[in-house]
Amino acid sequence: MTAIDQYAVFGSPIKHSKSPRIHKLFAEQTQQTLIYASQEVNAEQFANAVSCFFSAGGKGLNCTLPLKELAWAYADIRTERAELSKAVNTLALQSDGRILGDNTDGLGLLTDLKINHEVNLKNKNILILGAGGASRGIILPILEQSVISIVIANRTIDKAVTLANEFAHKGMIKGCGYNDLDDQRFDLIINATSTSLSDEIPPLPENILSKNGICYDLAYSNKPTSFVNWGKKNKALKSLDGLGMLVEQAAEAFFIWRGIRPITSSIIELLNSERF
Ligand code: NAP
Repeated sequence: MTAIDQYAVFGSPIKHSKSPRIHKLFAEQTQQTLIYASQEVNAEQFANAVSCFFSAGGKGLNCTLPLKELAWAYADIRTERAELSKAVNTLALQSDGRILGDNTDGLGLLTDLKINHEVNLKNKNILILGAGGASRGIILPILEQSVISIVIANRTIDKAVTLANEFAHKGMIKGCGYNDLDDQRFDLIINATSTSLSDEIPPLPENILSKNGICYDLAYSNKPTSFVNWGKKNKALKSLDGLGMLVEQAAEAFFIWRGIRPITSSIIELLNSERF
């Protein structure tokens, strides 16, 4: 009897992860037989937990907060987008036994923005709030969209400046603190901080969003996040949360593992119908 292919998401906290549900829906839709579980794994447990998973025949893993940088270091080989971002959210066992590390977050965000919400990034000035693992994963794919510039603002200013410097050879990008944002306007503001998880928002100056500007919170919840509400209050043309990105980055991981791309629209629709 052939064993069923095993996948999982590791992270901490992981209890509320929607990934097992999303991958179950993908598997049903594409008629793939697989198991996708979630496992509470912290940074100290990470290397051992990943080794055990693959030694026991596991085929692929997703890694979320706070494990993406560790997953990057664990991978034997990495895609170009993962290499530069120094953060990995998808590990995949290769036929030669090596573990491939990839980062599907950026593609997930772009697909959600461009395909699902018809937001064009060309010639736009973009502000990214936060300089953590999620921010790392989305910078390169955004820079590749012929944007005018990216500004990264972060509470810990050094982290924003260092991160911007890492991508400076790929396009116009700079890092700064929130106090340096006065008198600037942005067409798209992406919240890649974890502030929405505690119902806060980063300290943004007034009038920072251009007329018809867009707000996007990478975080998602069963109610509008604090940053989505900030966007609405500041008259954003669209103020979106990261549920679509979550499904799209999962679809790309599924494609890496199974070689088949699920249709995401019906799944996003289903998950959206279960909230608000
Ligand atoms: P992370 O590596 O822990 O980074 C957190 C960031 O938030 C840092 O820049 C941190 O600033 C900032 N921050 C935290 N508390 C703050 C506060 N009170 N005021 C201002 N800034 C604060 O986390 P991450 O992995 O990048 O994740 C960030 C968010 O993206 C999370 O909400 C996560 O759920 C979401 N996400 C969503 C998806 C999706 O598919 N939708 C994918 C990835 C991530 P300092 O550097 O100063 O500490």
